[in-house]
Amino acid sequence: MELIVEDAVTVTMAEGAARPARCVLVRDGRIAAVGEPGEIRAAASPGAAVVRLDGATIIPGLIDAHCHVANIGYLAAGADCSQPSAPGIPAIQARLREAAGQTPEGSWVTGSGYVEYNLREGRHPTRAELDEAVPNRPAVLYHTSLHACVLNTAALREAGFEDGQPDPPGGAFGRDGQGRLDGVVYEAPMFALLERNLRHDLGRMGAGQRARLVAGAGRYLAELGVTAACDADLRRDTYGAFAEADAGGVLSQRIYGLVVHDEVDWLVASGLRGRRSDRLAAEAVKIWSDGGMSSRTAAINGTYPVPPYGSGILYFERAELTGMVRDFDARGFQICIHAQGDRAIETVLDAYAAVLAGGGAAANPRRHRIEHGGAMYPPLISRAAELGIVVVSQPGFMSTLGDGFAEAFPDRGDQLYPFASWRRAGITAAGSSDAPVITADPLVGVRDAVLRRTAKGRVLGPDERVSARDALALYTRGAAFAMHREGEIGSLEPGKLADFAVLDANPLETDAERIGGIRVLATVIGGTPVYQSEPIFPA
Ligand SMILES: [Zn+2]
Repeated sequence: MELIVEDAVTVTMAEGAARPARCVLVRDGRIAAVGEPGEIRAAASPGAAVVRLDGATIIPGLIDAHCHVANIGYLAAGADCSQPSAPGIPAIQARLREAAGQTPEGSWVTGSGYVEYNLREGRHPTRAELDEAVPNRPAVLYHTSLHACVLNTAALREAGFEDGQPDPPGGAFGRDGQGRLDGVVYEAPMFALLERNLRHDLGRMGAGQRARLVAGAGRYLAELGVTAACDADLRRDTYGAFAEADAGGVLSQRIYGLVVHDEVDWLVASGLRGRRSDRLAAEAVKIWSDGGMSSRTAAINGTYPVPPYGSGILYFERAELTGMVRDFDARGFQICIHAQGDRAIETVLDAYAAVLAGGGAAANPRRHRIEHGGAMYPPLISRAAELGIVVVSQPGFMSTLGDGFAEAFPDRGDQLYPFASWRRAGITAAGSSDAPVITADPLVGVRDAVLRRTAKGRVLGPDERVSARDALALYTRGAAFAMHREGEIGSLEPGKLADFAVLDANPLETDAERIGGIRVLATVIGGTPVYQSEPIFPA
């Protein structure tokens, strides 16, 4: 059970490591040593296998500190309506029509991934346009943010939404010129629909099909070098799917579950809190405090100059959120709160201040987190640093969604997702994708953290760019810390788990423009290859 990896450029990301090492010794799924050929050969047993990498780069396994692993697998089975692959509404209609033919009766025809401002038409599709594609049965088209969707008429009917009905609590309906529902549904009712559909569809699948869904998401992540991920809305049914996959040996990544707050009692009562295995754990609680940035529903001070206008949606008032934070903190949970707009972030910091005395990271032992932190302006950054809050955010939004941010925040676009300011303030930040919101590719995130360049070529916040090393640290050390795993993963050091990715170039020495194009040659978890583009390691 020993493996010597030679002739590699090993970027360990260990603190203080000055230059890459050339060799790694793996023993029983862990890193036994990192160093030069002579010392590694001397440390290895006589029968150790040897793999030569011919100068390829090894980095610690990439960690996605906030994505939706189960949703990646679930939505991948429906129509891909993302841009640029579906450039306009007719293309979306064609894909939904095609998906209808493959969707079992009783399930909703599902598409996902569109961004209205990236569509040729520059707007959301309407219910009538969905009706043209799928006339006789419910169809849903999820916005890539998963904070909005469009329903056709049959879906509106089945969901119980009618013309003339007021906006539901925590949400809003899009309406046409006559005040009729145009099919667009924002926030809370959208979440409820996604959850209901996911639960319904998972429930009618057999265990084998559910395991394939999880394995499919795992394969996708493994091809991107991802070895661990936080699932940012774990519920009992998705937990069940992961547990089945884990038992069947097909759960690739180490999954750290953020359990949705209203399912925590279920988690505790079922005895599933904590680590189920080295692959599946549920130790944190997820709360949403506001809407999304690309759906323009994040709760801000002020008003959006773009549809749907308004000031966004805040899910909990200060007192209620504080009560929840107190409760979960007292029960020993790490708390992870989605907060995008400045008004939401302020409310969340107030709630955290009820359980954190201040004094930086050491004074936040449970590592309570803010997820996203989009409009965290300077005074909020100082407060977050003082409270020791961990920020889990998404540099990769820049190239995909950045132009929309610039429109929605004409005066403060440069201050959004302020990675360099977080760093200067001493905040631990972790990198993540929020996939399936955008691609889960961490190297795209690394590139975007360095360049902050939007699709149209605008650099959004040049002062918030970070170095390639700091960008990579977001997806390694920072992310490991955000999930209480820095003793096991996040850097390549003796004693840690042998989770690593083999790349065809060193991202720290590659021109930033080209980082997103670096190829993952292999992904290894616990010493075992879970993905190889060509045979490198003995299986
Ligand atoms: Zn998310």
